[in-house]
Amino acid sequence: MPAGARATEVLIIGGGIAGAAAGWALVRRGVSVIIAEAEPVCGRHTTGRSAAALLATYGPAQVRQLTAESMAFFHDPGDVVDHPLLHRRPTVYVAAAGDEHGWLALVAEVALAGELGIPAELLTPAEVLQVAPLMRPDWAAGGVIEPETCDLDVAGLHQGLLRTVLRTPGATVLTGARIVALRRDEPAGSPGGPSPRWHAVGADGSRITAQVIVNAAGAWADEIARSASVPPVGLRPLRRTAFTAPSHAPPQAGRPLADGPFLVEITGRWYVKPEGAGVLASLADETPDIPRDAVAEMADVALAIERINEATVLGLRSVQRAWAGLRTFTPDGRMLIGPDAVVPGFIWFAGLGGYGIQTAPRAGEVVADAAIAAMA
Ligand SMILES: Cc1cc2nc3c(=O)[nH]c(=O)nc-3n(C[C@H](O)[C@H](O)[C@H](O)COP(=O)(O)OP(=O)(O)OC[C@H]3O[C@@H](n4cnc5c(N)ncnc54)[C@H](O)[C@@H]3O)c2cc1C
Repeated sequence: MPAGARATEVLIIGGGIAGAAAGWALVRRGVSVIIAEAEPVCGRHTTGRSAAALLATYGPAQVRQLTAESMAFFHDPGDVVDHPLLHRRPTVYVAAAGDEHGWLALVAEVALAGELGIPAELLTPAEVLQVAPLMRPDWAAGGVIEPETCDLDVAGLHQGLLRTVLRTPGATVLTGARIVALRRDEPAGSPGGPSPRWHAVGADGSRITAQVIVNAAGAWADEIARSASVPPVGLRPLRRTAFTAPSHAPPQAGRPLADGPFLVEITGRWYVKPEGAGVLASLADETPDIPRDAVAEMADVALAIERINEATVLGLRSVQRAWAGLRTFTPDGRMLIGPDAVVPGFIWFAGLGGYGIQTAPRAGEVVADAAIAAMA
């Protein structure tokens, strides 16, 4: 093989959680893979910028099902990681006093949890204060507690999936490997002749041939489709800013801040949860953006601080670190995981919205099965 040329059964474009999960599921099924990641390290974009939560009621039905089907892996990740990936942290959804829309959303949340068999309880304002003493006494009209939600070890999961790929003979992860062109050969000939091949060209001129492409390029997935003459699907990258900050809350007798719940304003105006010695917080914004290295808007940070300080006694003043990530959605909000409708051998793993981490194990398996079917 000429220098700079490689061959594999499946080429996965993108080394975020999607690419890592697809790679992990494919090598477990005995398929050779190359993961090509444009950046010098995997996980630099949305995967490295999440809130690291697992919420079983979150998202459309497809997402909730993938989350439920990922739980067995999260509880027992086998040899992918040697430590627990989940840390139990109750979520308390709250609505402001006088916000009828918010109150109805709380009622709907409890009903949905009931339908899904997920423990959840509607709370009076006094009960909200008992489970979330950092709330201001007069702020909430009520709340919902879901005691079995979790923090997820995103870095542990992502690195563990990539490690599984790296230690499999015939599989590899290439970093600094931006794919800039894709072409599919359709060799003429009789049945049993050579099968069609994709030819990928890297920004440095390197070449990879593969039977199947998995498009796991996050916010850039439509660009990858265009470069392969596959119709784009109209993905929408929506920016969300998050930050960490020290708490200035008065001491809570016998209740370390770190043990507090994930507090979520039910209509999507803010959220905050303990992180290290302080908190991780967000405006829960969804600002239309373009595929790029997203940066935090300080106006979004300031507005989040204002809203969180109105609702809680956290007394947020300064910010330790602020960042933004692109949550990328399909037009109908469902994740796009499966074969392209038009072009054979092109598998989508895109539009993971705000749920790509909590669905990764099962979604990776679905994509792996689609890739294997495309090789047959
Ligand atoms: C603030 C915030 C909070 C969130 N909270 C949660 C949460 O609590 N729980 C949850 O499950 N999800 C959460 N999410 C969503 C989750 O982070 C995403 O769904 C997930 O990370 C998307 O993963 P991905 O692999 O598709 O994209 P990415 O991580 O962006 O990976 C795509 C990769 O493709 C690479 N790439 C692009 N173009 C090319 C190319 N031409 N060649 C090679 N490589 C290329 C990029 O460099 C990138 O590394 C949150 C997101 C944000 C921003």
